Amino acid sequence: MKKVKCPNCGKEVEWENNPFRPFCCEQCKLADLSKWLNEEYAVVEEIVLEEEGDSGS
Ligand SMILES: [Zn+2]
Repeated sequence: MKKVKCPNCGKEVEWENNPFRPFCCEQCKLADLSKWLNEEYAVVEEIVLEEEGDSGS
């Protein structure tokens, strides 16, 4: 049985039959999503722009 650690709280959860994977529960999934939107969106946007530049050359 494959197990993963919840990125939000570190709790081990089963990968199979887990609707919130890789998180342990809906609460952790939403917490990580809001964190990503608030803190890391700008970083992701930079990476996307770099990839577009490579494909154009
Ligand atoms: Zn969790």
